[in-house]
Amino acid sequence: MPRPILSTIHTAALGHNLARVRAAAPDARVWAVVKANAYGHGIERAFEGLRGADGFALLDLDEARRMRALDWRGPILLLEGCFELRDLELCSRLGLWHTVHCDEQIDMLATHKTQLPHRVFLKMNSGMNRLGFTPARYRAAWTRLNALPQVEEISLMTHFSDADGTKGIAAQLQAFEAATHDLPGERTLSNSAAALRHGAAIGEKSDWVRPGIAVYGSSPDFPEHSATDWGLLPTMTLASKIIGVQNLVAGDTVGYGSSFTADGPLRIGVLACGYADGYPRHCTTGTPVLVGGVRCRMVGRVSMDMLTVDLTPVPEAGIGSDVTLWGQSATGVVLSIDEIARAAGTVGYELMCALALRVPVVVTD
Ligand SMILES: *Cc1c(COP(=O)(O)O)cnc(C)c1O
Repeated sequence: MPRPILSTIHTAALGHNLARVRAAAPDARVWAVVKANAYGHGIERAFEGLRGADGFALLDLDEARRMRALDWRGPILLLEGCFELRDLELCSRLGLWHTVHCDEQIDMLATHKTQLPHRVFLKMNSGMNRLGFTPARYRAAWTRLNALPQVEEISLMTHFSDADGTKGIAAQLQAFEAATHDLPGERTLSNSAAALRHGAAIGEKSDWVRPGIAVYGSSPDFPEHSATDWGLLPTMTLASKIIGVQNLVAGDTVGYGSSFTADGPLRIGVLACGYADGYPRHCTTGTPVLVGGVRCRMVGRVSMDMLTVDLTPVPEAGIGSDVTLWGQSATGVVLSIDEIARAAGTVGYELMCALALRVPVVVTD
């Protein structure tokens, strides 16, 4: 029998979360961002739940090919554009729209032989200082692109660095608008945080929004708002079972480094999940774990294949009891991936993307 560990992808929750983002920015069309293999969910597994999107955004050309293999005929946007000349051939063949963020990509386009002119998204660096042309250089790039026979349509794009925090989007939005107000073309502005927190303002200014993390049921601005606050449902559950029980007495320690010491009699459960499954080793004593749908606390260090929980709240639990590391328990209790991420000093994105290959995955409704 395989180890009792399983990840479940929730199709209906993906659809629900997509609808939530749509409602937050009702005037915009929605790209579901499916980069990084749909944030670790698996593009093929997530597709059914995300079918209602107006398009899909990603950055790996092989992932774009996989979307077309699913028979998705609608828009696909390459968020980082092309990396080399032959990528443009694939864009022609698969009908991909692509970002243009630097002069070298315009050079490549200028030498590309194609029967089918491309739709490109010209990226502005409005303050993030990652990819894109600065506002001062944006118009020259637009003019160059506009003169190319290889280019059929130019859309305008930028990305916010602080949509989830107090700095907000105002300064970047202003820089973008000042530099583009008299340029034609559709606009795309917003990640999950901007769509949820600033949706009304964004909806009027952005023809397309680009939510990723919210679609996967994690809050983009946790802990200020939880996923529940935003009406989002978990789309990935990581579950296991208790495979061992120990009865400790005062002074007994647990696991490597003896980082936890019992101060009295304590019953602990040992679960078949560890850091080699993608559960973060930075989590320590106190991190929540559901046992039979009841919140318990982890004790001691996470091992490669196991971790340990205090069973005090669930005296009836024993070997074979169901545990939920994140997501939804069999009884419907939710443990948000955001809580586990926070306990590990990271964000839900990283945990989803780091789910280990050795964990079997099933898809449910
Ligand atoms: C990843 C990404 C997004 C989605 O961001 P979330 O925070 O996951 O919503 C949107 N736009 C671009 C350019 C991205 O790279």
